[in-house]
Formats: sequence, C-alpha cells, structure tokens
Amino acid sequence: MTQMKLFTVGPVEMYPYTLKTEGTQLPYFRDEDFSKVMKKCEDLYLASLNAPEGSYFIGLTCSGTGGMDASVQNILNKNDKVLVINGGSFGHRFAEICTRNNIKTDTYDLSFGEALSEYILESCSGKGYTALLVNACETSTGQFYDIDMLGRFCKRNDMLFMVDAISSYLADPLDMKEQNIDVVITSSHKALALSPGVSLIALSPRARQRALEGNSSYYFDFNDHIENQKRGQTPFTPAISVFLSVAERLGHIMDAGIQETLDLHEKRASYFRDLIKAVPVKIPEYPLSNCCTPIMLPDRNAGEIYKRLKEVYGMILNPSGGEMKDVMLRVGHIGNLEYGDFELLIEALKKEV
Ligand SMILES: *Cc1c(COP(=O)(O)O)cnc(C)c1O
Repeated sequence: MTQMKLFTVGPVEMYPYTLKTEGTQLPYFRDEDFSKVMKKCEDLYLASLNAPEGSYFIGLTCSGTGGMDASVQNILNKNDKVLVINGGSFGHRFAEICTRNNIKTDTYDLSFGEALSEYILESCSGKGYTALLVNACETSTGQFYDIDMLGRFCKRNDMLFMVDAISSYLADPLDMKEQNIDVVITSSHKALALSPGVSLIALSPRARQRALEGNSSYYFDFNDHIENQKRGQTPFTPAISVFLSVAERLGHIMDAGIQETLDLHEKRASYFRDLIKAVPVKIPEYPLSNCCTPIMLPDRNAGEIYKRLKEVYGMILNPSGGEMKDVMLRVGHIGNLEYGDFELLIEALKKEV
C-alpha cells in the first residue's frame, strides 16, 4: 500500500513524538508518577481555554461523542429546556443525546448553506431556555459559529452555555472567561493529533454546581471523576498512552504559547483557501472554521474524486455523509501537515476535478 497522507479532521497525521510516546510500553497508573501526568493535563487544558478560577477538568476515556453524552447526562436534568443549534449531523447528534436523556429539547435547524445570525438567535430569545448547546464548528459542513455572539446571548438570557469544540479546539480561538462558556468538550484525535480514546471536559464553577445535583451514569459520573482527579486519578483504568500524549502535546503547545498553534491553523486554512481558487470547486459562503475547508465538486462526483485521490495519490480527504455525499469533500487543516502537502493536494485536484 502506498504511504497515505491524511487531510482529514480526525484521526489526522500525527507528530513523531506522539508516535513514539503512544508506541511504548505503558506504565502502571495507580501511582504518583501517573497522577502527575493527569495533573499536568488538567493544568494545561484549563489554561489553554482560559477557564475561570475554580473550573474543573475531567478526563474521560471515550471518543468525543462520549464526552457530549456524559456532559448532557451530568449537567442537564428534567427541569431544563435546552436549545440546540442544528446545522448538520453533529448538531443533530447533540439534540438526539438530549432527547434520549429525556431533556426538553428544541432545535434551531439551519438549512445547508445558511449561516447562523444574530437575527436568528434573537428569534429564540425569551422562550424559557435554560441552556444552549452548540458545536463550535459543525464539522459536517465546516461552519464556524460566532461563539462571542452565542456567549452574549446566553449571558443575556441567563442560560448555561455548553460548547462541543471537538473539531475547533486549537484551530479557532476559544476563551471560557471572555465568551461566558460553562462546558467545553474536546477529544484527542482532532487537532491534538493523538489516537482516539480520550475526551477532555472543562466545567465552569456554575456547571460544576449542576453536576452535584445527580446523574444517571455510573461510568461517566462527573462527581466521581472530579473527586479522583483531586489526586490526579480516574475512577477506572484510563487510556493511559493517550493521556501521556495529551500531557506531552499540550506541553509543547503551551510552552510555545497557544497563539502560535492558532496562528498556524489560521495560516494553513487561508493558504489552502487561496490555492484552491485555481480549482473549479465552490467553497460555501458561511463562516468557516480553520480546522477544515469544505469543497463542493461539480457533477456530483465527490465519491469518485475521493477514490482517485486515495488510489492514485495516496491522499485521503474527508468524505461527507447524507445529502452532501456526492457533492462535497472536506479538506482538514489539522495535524502534522506542511504547506507543501497542500501544494501537492492542489496539483492533484487540478488534474482530477
Ligand atoms: C469528531 C467530532 C465529534 C466526535 O465524534 P467521535 O466519533 O465520537 O469522535 C463530535 N463533535 C464534533 C463537532 C466532531 O467534529
């Protein structure tokens, strides 16, 4: 098989130090050395989000959806009435998780191509919502929602603000204090560029108070996790190698300053979006996250292009699902990629589209 290069949103191309760390013998974890690793994850993660004083870190062993599910189960309850921005499959997933947990849920459904606006948001004002759930980047379309605007809306309406930043984390700025965010959910295999298996959660003090009120999950009990994390431990066996890698990767990112990583993704996205003008594809007009660029292909041949790029060039783009399956591919900008990789991809696209 040819060496494949991933231009996907997750998993992504990993960094050499991650491959090394994740490929070595695991240490035992019920001791002080591993507690230091978990404490390092906590400090760096909360710092990377500018979490307010007294925030909590929870490291779960599951993919990102597990983090969404756990957050809904622990933070929301039957007295809540939540609003979910549903602009694609991940918004839809958030809504399904809420309904499954018997939480009163309304969605604001965006049609494909429709951008979320202040006007739309205001139409949802004064309806007694207690929480807003949003995917910072709706990865299925690449739309990036205005988190400042959403945070202000929540503050005005006294709503809890829960953000699935799984694909957006490290690609777009996120600031819990400035943007009034109560819950941030991320995971290990997007811009962190690690193996799947870990979901990282941050809770504001206000969100943590709600977690005290009881929940139904045994495995994903936030109180249990918070109690254990006080000494750098988890209730059950964690994905040890991934947490080692989280500490290492966030260490590198925070040593250099998080702005450097944000700038890198921003520059990569604009570099690619500039080059792609030479290829006859369309880019949607709504605001985009720096984590990926959706490209609309002519002639409903997205599936064919995907296959050709994989088989002939060893390049993997992100296919789309549902009604977008034949018309849209997404090009990821996260992970261990160089400008030269995007130049090669553009050359291939010029030939194939
Ligand atoms: C990747 C992703 C998830 C999590 O998906 P998993 O398959 O559970 O890892 C959730 N939300 C968004 C916006 C994502 O991009």
